[in-house]
Amino acid sequence: RKRVFRFGSKSADGDSTMRNLLGGKGANLAEMSAIGIPVPPGFTITTEVCTEYNKLGEEATLKLIRKDVEQAIANIEKIMDTEFGNSENPLLISVRSGARVSMPGMMDTVLNLGLNDDVVKGLAAKTKNDRFAWDSYRRFIQMYGGVVLGMKPESKDDIDPFEEIMEHLKEKREIELDTQFTVQDLKDLVYDFKDIVKKRTGHDFPTDPWQQLWGAIIAVFNSWNGDRALYYRKMHGYPADWGTAVNVQAMVYGNMGDSSGTGVCFTRDAGTGENVFNGEYLINAQGEDVVAGVRTPRQITTLGSKRWAELAKINENERLVTYPSLEELMPTIYKELHGYQEKLEKHYRDMQDMEFTIQEGKLWILQTRNGKRTGAAMVKITMDLLKEGLIDEKEAILSIEPTKLDELLHPVFDTKALKRAHVIAQGLPASPGAATGQIVFFADEAHKFRHSILTRIETSPEDLEGMNIAKGILTARGGMTSHAAVVARGMGKCCISGAGALKISYKRRTLTVDGKVYHEGDWISLNGSTGNIIEGKVATSEPELSGEFGEIMKLADKYGTMEVRTNADSPKDAKVARNFGAKGIGLARTEHMFFEVDRIKTMREMILADTVKGRKHALEDLLPMQRKDFEGIFEAMDGHPVTIRLLDPPLHEFVPHQLATQKELAEDMHISLLAVKNKVAELQEFNPMLGHRGCRLGNTYPEITEMQTRAIIEAALNLKEKGIVSKPEIMVPLVGTLSEFMEQEKVIRETANKVFEEYEDTIDYLVGTMIEVPRAALMADSIAERADFFSFGTNDLTQMAFGYSRDDAGKFLPIYLEKGILTADPFEVLDQKGVGQLVKMGTERGRSTKPDLKVGICGEHGGEPSSVEFCYATGMNYVSCSPFRVPIARVAAAQAVL
Ligand code: PEP
Ligand code: MG
Repeated sequence: RKRVFRFGSKSADGDSTMRNLLGGKGANLAEMSAIGIPVPPGFTITTEVCTEYNKLGEEATLKLIRKDVEQAIANIEKIMDTEFGNSENPLLISVRSGARVSMPGMMDTVLNLGLNDDVVKGLAAKTKNDRFAWDSYRRFIQMYGGVVLGMKPESKDDIDPFEEIMEHLKEKREIELDTQFTVQDLKDLVYDFKDIVKKRTGHDFPTDPWQQLWGAIIAVFNSWNGDRALYYRKMHGYPADWGTAVNVQAMVYGNMGDSSGTGVCFTRDAGTGENVFNGEYLINAQGEDVVAGVRTPRQITTLGSKRWAELAKINENERLVTYPSLEELMPTIYKELHGYQEKLEKHYRDMQDMEFTIQEGKLWILQTRNGKRTGAAMVKITMDLLKEGLIDEKEAILSIEPTKLDELLHPVFDTKALKRAHVIAQGLPASPGAATGQIVFFADEAHKFRHSILTRIETSPEDLEGMNIAKGILTARGGMTSHAAVVARGMGKCCISGAGALKISYKRRTLTVDGKVYHEGDWISLNGSTGNIIEGKVATSEPELSGEFGEIMKLADKYGTMEVRTNADSPKDAKVARNFGAKGIGLARTEHMFFEVDRIKTMREMILADTVKGRKHALEDLLPMQRKDFEGIFEAMDGHPVTIRLLDPPLHEFVPHQLATQKELAEDMHISLLAVKNKVAELQEFNPMLGHRGCRLGNTYPEITEMQTRAIIEAALNLKEKGIVSKPEIMVPLVGTLSEFMEQEKVIRETANKVFEEYEDTIDYLVGTMIEVPRAALMADSIAERADFFSFGTNDLTQMAFGYSRDDAGKFLPIYLEKGILTADPFEVLDQKGVGQLVKMGTERGRSTKPDLKVGICGEHGGEPSSVEFCYATGMNYVSCSPFRVPIARVAAAQAVL
C-alpha cells in the first residue's frame, strides 16, 4: 500500500481523481503540478493513514510511513536545493490537513516548520533579513505551541499565552502593531515563548526538525477529531472514517520584502457569479495575514480597485480604497497569474478559488479549489459555464447544490423600507442577503434572541456554531476573504465584514459608531449585498428570481421524471408553490384551516359537544368555511391534482388550556366552566401522537369525515360550474388496517354520491391513504385492494419505526448526533436503511396488488435532496414538500435521474 504521494517540479504521483485518498488539497496539488502550474514541491500522506492512526496509535503509524517521508523530504530538498535542518541553507516546510471535502478553518496548519536556534540564523543570513527570520521563528513557535503542543485558548475567557506575551511587550515598548517590533523584540519573544512552552508542557520546545515534523503530522491527524472539525462534520453529515490527509510542502515566503507578497483570488465573483477575475493581495506578508483580516488587503485587478473606490466615494469609507492594484504594481506577475487562473478554470471547468505567493519576484500557486459561492452566484456561474461550452446540461444540473437554491428564495429588504433606513456605517458586502436582528457580541450567545446579529471584531472557527445560529454576521475587521466572509458565504448567510467605523467593546458589550452607542439586544439590519449597516428593523420582501434561475429550473424539468408537488394548506401557499413550479398539492393538512380566531371557536364547540346532534350543528357552521378554502386551493392549482387529508391531529390540540379562554368558551356554549374543564381533561392523553388521532377520529366521529368530504366535493362542483377543473384526492390519515380504511372510504363515497345527487352532476375524485403506520407498510398489498393511491407520511413512519416521539425527540437527538449514535436527524434526512425498507416494501407490496398504484411522499423528507433521490430509486410518482423547497426538490429529482 502506497502511503506517501509526491508532487512538484511539474510531475506528481497522484492526480485530482484521488480526492478520497489524498484529500481535496493533496489531489489538487498533485494535479496542478502535473499540468505545469508552479506549485511548491511536497508530498501527501494519505487519509488511509489517518484511519490507521486512529486504530494503531502514534508509534506504529510512524513506523509505517517513516522511510517514505524521509525519502520524500529528500526529494523536496533536491528540487528546492536546500536541506531540512541545515543551518546554512535550510528547507522550511508547512504541514497542513486536507480532508476529501474543504472544511475552511476547521483544521490545523503549521508553517515555518524546521526552524530552531541555529536554522534561524542561517535563514537570516541567507535572506539578508534578520527581521523576517526571527518573525518566522516566533510565528512558528506560536503556531506549533497552539496546534501541536495544545496551548490554544479553550474558551473566550482563556487568554492565548503567546498573544499575552506579545501584548505585554507592546505595552512595555509603547507600540501598537506587530510590525513595530524590533529584531531584538522578536528575539526576546522567541525566548519568552520557549519559556512559556517549558512551563506549560514540562518539556523543552523541540529543536530537532524531524521531531517537529513527526509531532505536526500526528497533530493534524488528531485535529480530525477536534471539536471544530467534529462540529463541522456533524453539520454536513461527513462520516468519521473519511479521515484527513497531511500535506507537507516547501515553504515559500511572501514576507521577504517589497518584491514579495501574497493573495487570494477567484476566477469569477463568488457573490454575484459575474465572470470577472478578482481577489485581494498584500505586499510583504504571509498568507495568513490576508485571511486573518489584520491588514486591509488591496484589489488584484485595476477594475476591482476602481469599483471599491466608487463604493468608497458614495459612502465616504476610506477603508475601501485599495490602490494600487497588483495589475498596476507588478504587471508581469499579474499577467502570469492571469494566465494560470484561466488555465485552472478551464482545466477544472468550474470557478476556482486560488491562493498564491510571490517570493522575491517569483510567483507560486499554493492551492486552487472549486470556489465557495452564494446561491445566486452558483446559478449564474453554472448557466454561464454551460453557455461558454465548458460544461454540458447534465453537468450543469449536477453542479447545482439543491439546498443552496434556498438563498435565492428568501426575503430581501423591502425597497421602500430601505429608502427610509438610516445607514450608520458601511463595510464590505461579504455575503449577500438581508438580515435584521438583535446585537450579540459572543458566538455562544447567538441563541439569546430569536433573531440575532453576531457582531464581532473578527470571527474565528470557534465562532462557527454561533454564526450558524445568527441571522447575520457583522465584523469590524477582515476583507472579502476573511474567515467570516468565507464561512458566511458557504452558509448562505448575510455577512458584512471589515466595517472599520465600528468600535466594539466586548467588555462593555457595546458597539459605537460615530459616537452613538448601541447595546446588546438593540436591533440592527445588515444588507449583505451593499455592505450597509442600518439602525433598527427593516421590513423585508420576497426576492425576485433571476433569469438564470428559471433556466436552471427548466433544465431540471427537462431531465427530471418524478413529479414535484407541494404541501400547502391555503390558497396563498398554493400560489407561491405554483410559482415555484409545483405540479399539484401532495398534502393539504385540513386542520391548519381551523386555527383562525373565528373558526377555532366553532371547532371547539364541535369537539366539546356531547351529542352527535351538537357536533353536527357545529360542523354545519364549519362546512362553508372549509368549502371556501378548498375552492381557493383548487383554483390556485388550476387543474392540477390536490390531495386533501382528512382531520388528523389529536383533538386536545384544539381545546383551550388557559382559564380565561375556557371561561369564554363556556359562556359561548352556555355550559358551565366545570363542564369545559372536564371535557378538556377528558381529551388529555398520555401519548397523544399515538392516541385518538388520524382515521381513528373519522371512524369514531364519522360526521367529521362526512362534513369534510361534502366540503371538498361541493367546492369542486361549484368550480366546475365556473369552468374550473379540480382534481381532488381525498386522503385518509394514519391507517393501519384495511378495515380502518374501508370504514372511512364508505363514508366518503356515500357522502360524495349524496352530493352528486343534490347537484345532479359529478366529478372525478380519488380516495387514497397515507402510509405512515408501520403496519400499513407491511399490509400494503391488502390496503391497495381498496386505496386509489398511497402517500408516505415519513414523519409519522419515522416516529413509529424508531419509536422516537416527534414531540420529545428534541431532548435526546442533539446528544445522539453529537455522540455519533446517529449520523443525521432521521426526521430531516430519511433513514434509508431502516425506515426506507418500510417505504420500499410498502411500494412493492402495494403495486403487487395494483400495478399502476400512484405512490408519493408528503413527509418533510420530500424536500431533502438525498431523500428525494431515494424516492426516485423506489419508483415513486411524486414527492411533495413545502413551497420554498419545491425548486430544491425539482433539481434533486433531476439529479436523481442523472
Ligand atoms: C407525516 O406523518 O409524514 C405527515 C406528512 O403527516 P403529519 O406530519 O401531518 O403527521
Ligand atoms: Mg402524519
